[in-house]
Amino acid sequence: MANVSISRGDLPMSVIEHWIGGSPTAGAGGRRGAVFNPATGQQQHEVVLADHADVDAAVAAATTAFGSWGQASLSARTKVMFAFRELVNANVQELAGIISDEHGKVLSDAAGEVQRGLEVVEFACGIPQLLKGDYSDQASSGVDVFSFREPLGVCAGITPFNFPAMVPMWMYPVAIACGNTFVLKPSERDPSAANFVAELWRRAGLPDGVFNVVHGDKVAVDALLQHPGVAAISFVGSTPIARYIHQEAAASGKRVQALGGAKNHAIVLPDADLEFAANHLAAAAFGSAGERCMAISAAVAVGGAGDPLMELVSRRAAEVVVGPGRDPRSEMGPVVSAAAKQRIESLIGTGEQQGAKVLVDGRGLSVEGFEDGFFVGPTVIDQVETGMDVYTEEIFGPVLSVVRAESVDAAIALVNANPYGNGTAIFTGSGEAARRFQRGVHVGMIGVNVPIPVPMAYYSFGGWKDSLFGDRHIHGPEGVSFYTRGKVVTSRWPHVTSVHGASLQFPTAL
Ligand code: NAD
Repeated sequence: MANVSISRGDLPMSVIEHWIGGSPTAGAGGRRGAVFNPATGQQQHEVVLADHADVDAAVAAATTAFGSWGQASLSARTKVMFAFRELVNANVQELAGIISDEHGKVLSDAAGEVQRGLEVVEFACGIPQLLKGDYSDQASSGVDVFSFREPLGVCAGITPFNFPAMVPMWMYPVAIACGNTFVLKPSERDPSAANFVAELWRRAGLPDGVFNVVHGDKVAVDALLQHPGVAAISFVGSTPIARYIHQEAAASGKRVQALGGAKNHAIVLPDADLEFAANHLAAAAFGSAGERCMAISAAVAVGGAGDPLMELVSRRAAEVVVGPGRDPRSEMGPVVSAAAKQRIESLIGTGEQQGAKVLVDGRGLSVEGFEDGFFVGPTVIDQVETGMDVYTEEIFGPVLSVVRAESVDAAIALVNANPYGNGTAIFTGSGEAARRFQRGVHVGMIGVNVPIPVPMAYYSFGGWKDSLFGDRHIHGPEGVSFYTRGKVVTSRWPHVTSVHGASLQFPTAL
């Protein structure tokens, strides 16, 4: 495809606007939010914050577009999906740069997030296969039964700051391929990726109004929750907000899936390759500065694994190169905001006061040339007890808390006592222990010698307990199910000579 690459300069970026009905608009709301570059600590953009009228305009555009998009053929929809796939693929690096500038993560990590989102787009390119119904010939004499699924209408997505490209891509490719139209409310902290994606959709030939972006905060979210024109809400973010979204959306009769926060445990058994485990633990705890819902934030060292593991993890933590996301030498960037940095450092201090042992301390880190950046270094805290704040809080920073346990069963019990159930992993050389673990933990996504077990796009992603409110996981087959509703047709075409009389009795198969 020629000339597919677009640059940031193509978009009106100094004030980040909504994208409604196929073009940018400042909207009616007068409020604006600040968007920072976390590496420099400086504000770089303003983002418009929607009021009710802006949400109304986006839902109106999506409702109008649904009239034809909901009726578009599978072939027509698939053609747009494939074109969009090509455009995202051609713009991975550009998108990664935008993400890095507003989120802070290093470029390779940002490109990785786009790649994982792209896999959902590719999954959605197969929508004709995914939407095939069932057919039962001659279910009763002269009667056939078949099923098919239809789109819901206008669907909304409300997304967190930590994956500004990937998490929205868990939602809208599937929703749109299923024939719905979409209103995305991305995080106001890193809003630019959403507008860049809107431009890619436009270039892919998606009709105006099928994909819309409304920027904003609680005002925009509440307007979406209350809007009678919105059929379904997908949310990803922290647990208190996920719980609120689930309650409010359900109360107004909407279909809702709300994915919440996490405290992901990795259990390390003494029979594991400890060097392998330590390297992977460090990568899973400090990658993206720990701002991943699948980050390993709690290690559970079983029996004799504890001391050697602590030595290896601490060594690796101290080696991590921290710097601005755009510097290719950086392995880890800053955290998202000054408030996040302050909160993370304060929690490390609380851990120390409550009796845990800070083996590697990331507080007070200064990066040369970026002294005002929101940097926190990798931190390892040993001897953590389950009552301490560093264990009970989702820190969402580069902090690994280490708990000790006597046995695999004690470690499984510890995982199950935690209110979250997003992801977990075991490092072991024993198939028997791994199997006991995978069957015993009350968690939605499990890794065996794999620390961040994010399912491939053709499976569905979702946690248990306080990590997900609603009954459908996101993307994959459950995503197709979430964004469609089923119909079953019972059909008879009687031959004129064989018409039986109709009976008032409840129909049974003949
Ligand atoms: P957040 O809950 O603060 O914000 C998420 C979204 O909700 C944003 O769009 C935000 O504007 C909106 N929002 C914030 N406060 C609101 C309120 N009071 N009322 C209505 N809407 C509100 O989350 P965040 O800080 O952006 O992201 C980090 C959190 O997301 C972490 O807890 C992380 O574990 C979680 N997360 C979970 C998953 C998952 O798959 N389970 C994936 C990514 C992130």
